[in-house]
Amino acid sequence: MSRPIIAQIDISAMQHNCQVARFRVPTAKVWAVVKANAYGHGLLHGMEGFAAADGLALVELEGALRLRQAGWIKPILLLEGFFSIEELSEVKKHGLDTVVHCEEQVKMLESLKCGNEKITVHLKINTGMNRLGFVPLVVPLIYQRLKELSFVGKIILLTHFANADTLRPLLLPVTDQLQNFEMATIGLKEEVSLSNSGAILLYPHLKTDWIRPGIMLYGASPGEKTAVEFGLRPVMTLRSEIIAIQVVKKGQAVGYGSAFVAQSEMLIGVVACGYADGYPRHAPLGTPVLVEGVKTRLIGRVSMDMITVDLTPIPKACIGSKVVLWGEGLDIDEVARSAGTIGYELMCAVSQRVPLVKRV
Ligand SMILES: *Cc1c(COP(=O)(O)O)cnc(C)c1O
Repeated sequence: MSRPIIAQIDISAMQHNCQVARFRVPTAKVWAVVKANAYGHGLLHGMEGFAAADGLALVELEGALRLRQAGWIKPILLLEGFFSIEELSEVKKHGLDTVVHCEEQVKMLESLKCGNEKITVHLKINTGMNRLGFVPLVVPLIYQRLKELSFVGKIILLTHFANADTLRPLLLPVTDQLQNFEMATIGLKEEVSLSNSGAILLYPHLKTDWIRPGIMLYGASPGEKTAVEFGLRPVMTLRSEIIAIQVVKKGQAVGYGSAFVAQSEMLIGVVACGYADGYPRHAPLGTPVLVEGVKTRLIGRVSMDMITVDLTPIPKACIGSKVVLWGEGLDIDEVARSAGTIGYELMCAVSQRVPLVKRV
C-alpha cells in the first residue's frame, strides 16, 4: 500500500470544458492554456484533454518542446515569448508562435538572419493592465518593424484583461481596455486575440478571432458564478483517505499549537494530506472536506503531511474512509474561498509527491 493521496484527472471533463469555451464564442479559434503544467493537471493530460483545441498556449519553452516531442503538431504559443536569442532559435526551429511584448524581443528578432521558416508573432498591447505589452502609442511603429522581417509570417494583435472576471470592476472595465485596443490597432487588419476565461464567460460577445481559456478548462470559475452554473465540470479531484481516528474528550486539543479544543467528546479523522501536498496551510477551521461523500469541516492546523477533520457527521467513518479535498462533489472554489485564495492557486500548488492519476 502506498500513501493514499492522489489527484485524479478526468480527461472527459477537460474535453467537455473545452467544448463549453468553443460554444460560448463559436466564431473564435481556441488556444487552450496549459501553462504551469496544465494548471497542475499534467502537461500531457492537457494535450490529451484539449486535443480538439486549435492550439496550446503556455509560458515554458521546455513545456512547448515536450509537447512537440509528444506529437502535438498544431500551433503552440509562448505567452511571454522568448527570453534570449537561444530561445528564439528554438522558437524558429520548432515552429512555435510567440508573443512579442517588449523592445528587447523586437531587437532580438531584428538581429536574426533571414530564413525560410515563418513564425507567427502575437504583438502584445498594454491596454491598461501594465504588466506586459507595448503602450498604444508605439504599436503602429512596432507593427511596421515586425512587418519588415522576412521570417515573420502572420501577426496577431493580442491584449489581456485585468478585470474580465467581474461585471462591476472598480477600475479599468473591459470596455476601457477595448477602447485602448481599438486606438492602438486602428487601420491594422490582423486577427485579434482577446479573451481569457473571465471574458469568455462574462463577455462572450466581444469580437475576437482567438480566445485563450485557462481556468475554465479545468472546471473552476473565474468569478461571478460557480463553475456548475457556467456548465463546467471539475477536472481534478484531490483524493485521500482517513489514516487514523482519535476520540477527543471535552477540553482536549488537536494538532500543532493546540489550535482546536473540543467542546465535547468527539471523533477526529486524520487525513493523509498536508501542506507538502499542496493543501493550503492557511485553511482555517471550518474549511469544507468530504468524507465518504458527506461534507464536514477541517479542524486544527494544517500540518505538513496531515489534516484533521470533524467526524461528527460521519460516525461510521473508519480507517480507509474516502476523502475528497476538492473536485467531484466539492467545488474547488468553495475550498479556495475558505482558505482566502483562488482555485488557480490550489490547482497549481499540488505538489510533486502527489501522483496525477487519469480517471478511467
Ligand atoms: C494565463 C493566461 C490566460 C488564461 O487565463 P484564465 O484566467 O486562466 O482563463 C490567457 N491569456 C494569457 C496571456 C495568460 O497568461
